Amino acid sequence: MKTYPDHIEGYPTFIVFEGECYCIECANKFANDEDEDQDMTEDERIFSRPEDAGISQAINWEHDDLYCSSMHGCGEKIEPAYS
Ligand SMILES: [Zn+2]
Repeated sequence: MKTYPDHIEGYPTFIVFEGECYCIECANKFANDEDEDQDMTEDERIFSRPEDAGISQAINWEHDDLYCSSMHGCGEKIEPAYS
């Protein structure tokens, strides 16, 4: 299941959660992991229910120095729409 589209109207997107940025690949992986984890309660699910959890998805217009969280994510660069 794909929770987050990696592009919106052709532009690259990323996820913001609690001040950390995540690439779409990581966000979808987190969402899938939560979906598969039957021990998790509904309240513990964050990435698989973004509407309730304060997660926002944004387009990276021109930040050339935006990286996926190196603490929880992959640390990879999030490509801007314009560079
Ligand atoms: Zn990542």
